[in-house]
Amino acid sequence: MSVSEMTRTVRGSNSATQKVLLETAAATRLLESEGILDYSGHVSTRIPGRDAFVIQIGSTSRAEVTPESMLVVDYSGKVLEGDGQPPSELPIHLEILRARPDVQSVLHSHMELAIAFTMMEGVKLLPMRARASRWKSGIPTDPDPSHIKLPEQGRALARTLGPHHAVLMRAHGLCLVAESVRGLFVDAVHFKENATAQMQALQAGAKPIPLTEAEIAQIEKMEMREWHIKKLWNYYVRKALDEEVLPSAWKDELVPTKEMLTRE
Ligand SMILES: [Zn+2]
Repeated sequence: MSVSEMTRTVRGSNSATQKVLLETAAATRLLESEGILDYSGHVSTRIPGRDAFVIQIGSTSRAEVTPESMLVVDYSGKVLEGDGQPPSELPIHLEILRARPDVQSVLHSHMELAIAFTMMEGVKLLPMRARASRWKSGIPTDPDPSHIKLPEQGRALARTLGPHHAVLMRAHGLCLVAESVRGLFVDAVHFKENATAQMQALQAGAKPIPLTEAEIAQIEKMEMREWHIKKLWNYYVRKALDEEVLPSAWKDELVPTKEMLTRE
């Protein structure tokens, strides 16, 4: 029995829901494996054609999330499918997804490197590495350092995020948003690389030199985001299958086909 048949049997969900459940479970495990998630943090992804999104159960280990163990939740926070409680910080996902119809997937993480940039006087996280041109519009910091459990806290965070692709949370963490869960995963990898690069410059005692507007314009001229996402997803999924971070039964549905990996 394939994973999709198994999911259908267990969940009774439609195929769009199954795909989103599997990709979000896989992205969660990959993010944990790459040190971006740990014992907490979570990913949500909208289900195309349904007024709902998927998110993991709050208590499930990020290293062991499966499609079958996840929840389908509507935009009032009601659990429609699955057995368990969403993470206590569900309002982060609810309010960002409500405020940003262009966003398909949201990551909330407590990445230490990102948090450090909310705790240094006169230092802002800036686009340093080429791939960080993604955050050229800015990376605002939300001032609320507490857990985001209330709708009004989630709305304030969504307001701070505004039209950007990333928001830091003072002494707490960050959120990233993207057009797909695969894109979100790739962004998270580059967000960490960029924060590392800036921290290394600071630790060397140097003044970081962020990308200039002209450099960002040049990078964007050469950008192939869709291809880049496919390439990195392929790399990280294959590595995770080899290392048994992802179950081998998920392979056929997660590894891009040769045709998909052909650059246009
Ligand atoms: Zn948090």
